[in-house]
Amino acid sequence: MERIIIVRYGEIMMKGLNKRFFEDKLVKHIRHALKDLGNIRVYKKESRILIDFEDYNENLIIKRLKKIFGIVLISGAYRFPVDLDKIKEVALNEIKRRIENEGIKTFKVDSKRVDKKFPLKSLEISSEIGAHILRNVQDIKVDVHNPDAVVYVEVRDEAYVFSDKIYGHGGLPVGTGGKALLLLSGGIDSPVAGWLMAKRGLELDAVHFHSYPFTSERAKEKVMDLAKILSIYVGRFRLYSINLLPIQKEINEKCPEDEMTILSRRFMMKLAQRVAKLSGSSALVTGESLGQVASQTIESLHTTNSAVELPVFRPLIATDKVDIINMAKEIETYETSILPYEDCCTVFLPKRPVTKPRLDKILKSEEKLDVEALIEEALGNMEVEDIILD
Ligand code: ATP
Ligand code: MG
Repeated sequence: MERIIIVRYGEIMMKGLNKRFFEDKLVKHIRHALKDLGNIRVYKKESRILIDFEDYNENLIIKRLKKIFGIVLISGAYRFPVDLDKIKEVALNEIKRRIENEGIKTFKVDSKRVDKKFPLKSLEISSEIGAHILRNVQDIKVDVHNPDAVVYVEVRDEAYVFSDKIYGHGGLPVGTGGKALLLLSGGIDSPVAGWLMAKRGLELDAVHFHSYPFTSERAKEKVMDLAKILSIYVGRFRLYSINLLPIQKEINEKCPEDEMTILSRRFMMKLAQRVAKLSGSSALVTGESLGQVASQTIESLHTTNSAVELPVFRPLIATDKVDIINMAKEIETYETSILPYEDCCTVFLPKRPVTKPRLDKILKSEEKLDVEALIEEALGNMEVEDIILD
């Protein structure tokens, strides 16, 4: 008898997608995430992914699998040649273990007969095993509707028995949906936005704008730390850093004070679009949420959106701040995001920013600037770093 991990990725998600392509990507991501854990075999079998491994690594493997998009369920299971008595014994031991660990009081057996040559039907297998457990354990009952524990039994070319179902994040494997460029600030929202889009199968690169030396080295490191946390889920990606200060100074000098934020946000979008081209990205991702701040009203979004042609994904547009914070905590970017280093947007912050900018008026102000030259200069000084998890 051996331990094995079963990874399930759900069927609905594969509809309309090329199944092979999806599975192969997922296998590749799993192999990559586990590559330092010794002797491990990852392979597809019967619309699931199986992992053979060395026993002592089970918890660590599961912990890593939980961070791979596309995985819906993970179970550590026993596998052995099909034999009803053996199945009964292993199922009984699972229940005993769960009683000892969790004090479960009710259970049910859920069986699946894939090998139709096996003489008992699924329901018959379940009732045989259930009866065996009831005969051998005191103080336990069957509850088919709301059991404390379920023992899953699968009769295939071999028998599989398990009772843990651990949920992954679901979604689609990174890279099955193309590539996008995340506008990554040091705030709470943008890392969550990037995470959500990667969960839908997008590969990511990121661009960050700073105002060095008004913003510090520490602020830059903070963004780098956020990028590292994201890379656990997203894999390797590239961080482009651009100094916005010369542009902000120019706006400050030549344009109305209350338009500072909206004008610099248009520059950010234009610069991001240029970087997207370099990175091979076909969309932009931001952490904007409707109504959260002055630059996130419909009018502001329209004004910044019109600076670019690429699609802009705003996965948080309808999400409340409390819910974004909860997501940030779950993906473990929150603690880094709340570190108090200054953001480039706080430099030259207008006392009363326009909340309902009119596009024609903003375009007029923009005419006072040599937009192309400013963009070229900013790109010329851009720094590029590959984020690789150490
Ligand atoms: P966040 O928490 O993500 O910083 P926010 O609530 O502070 O968002 P804004 O400052 O209006 O909101 O920024 C909206 C979005 O614009 C951010 O989510 C991010 O995608 C992008 N953005 C803002 N500042 C920067 C920056 N310095 N570098 C890169 N992207 C930025
Ligand atoms: Mg911000």
